Amino acid sequence: MILIDGKKIAAELREELKQEVSELKAKYNKVPGLTVILIGDMAPSQIYVRNKEKFANEVGLKSEVIRYPETIEEKAVLDKIEELNKDESISGILVQLPLPNHIDKQKVIETILPGKDVDGFHPMNVGNLSSGYESSVPCTPLGCYLMIKKIEPNLSGKKAVMIGRSNLNGKPMAQLLLKENCTVTITHSRTKDLKAECLEADIIVAAVGIPELVKADWVKKDAIVIDVGINKTDKGIVGDVAFDEVSKVAKALTPVPGGVGPMTIACLLKNTIECFKRSLK
Ligand code: NAD
Repeated sequence: MILIDGKKIAAELREELKQEVSELKAKYNKVPGLTVILIGDMAPSQIYVRNKEKFANEVGLKSEVIRYPETIEEKAVLDKIEELNKDESISGILVQLPLPNHIDKQKVIETILPGKDVDGFHPMNVGNLSSGYESSVPCTPLGCYLMIKKIEPNLSGKKAVMIGRSNLNGKPMAQLLLKENCTVTITHSRTKDLKAECLEADIIVAAVGIPELVKADWVKKDAIVIDVGINKTDKGIVGDVAFDEVSKVAKALTPVPGGVGPMTIACLLKNTIECFKRSLK
């Protein structure tokens, strides 16, 4: 079984990005800029944002985190986004989710210019992705996609099953694999026989939020299994895939932690650089 080492692949990707940033700097005398807006003090968001800042600095991006208290008014956030939209030194804007209840997530997403939407959540980017046009692609599925391609460069005709249909994971993941000519099935909480669907799959991407949902007898021999889930349990953080047993049947599997997580952040940096390059066109 191939253990898909997300930490290592992400480090390699960051090295490539660092090189690219230094070439862009030499050519244009400026570097891509990423601004993250963090509202409130939820612990996981604080950790994610700290890591984003650390790695953005590591690859040489201009990086800034704007922190607001939980009580900040929606209008102040939207006004700040408008200001960042106009700032030519900022290539990418990310508002860390989740948001406090009084702030409308959709309004926030739609206020970010599509060209600066490094999360790929703006409807324009979602539409472009599903139409097969150039767009920002959500960071987590992009990271999953890059790892799958490392294992299997030619995905044409493969059967891929997404578990979970979220806008963040399942849906954009399905679009990326469809573009690679996979036959794609999106399953969800109302799917009648999830095990039977999974047993058909050459590729399984599990993004559910249920600890160790995917068992060994759900997985076809030699399938590629990508585990997006992050679940806190008594025995620590586990994914949506029962790692020990599935590792005995799968051809390749991502660990949790150390699989999809590091790739998500590396892809945010990649998206920032892509936004910068598109802004030069
Ligand atoms: P979500 O709650 O938005 O979506 C979960 C999906 O799972 C839904 O589409 C739902 O229909 C489906 N589902 C629920 N129960 C099911 C069942 N019994 N069988 C089949 N499908 C079922 O979640 P999300 O934001 O997509 O995140 C999913 C998981 O991925 C979470 O554990 C989250 O923490 C993790 N995550 C990890 C990263 C990362 O970088 N590694 C990034 C984002 C999310």
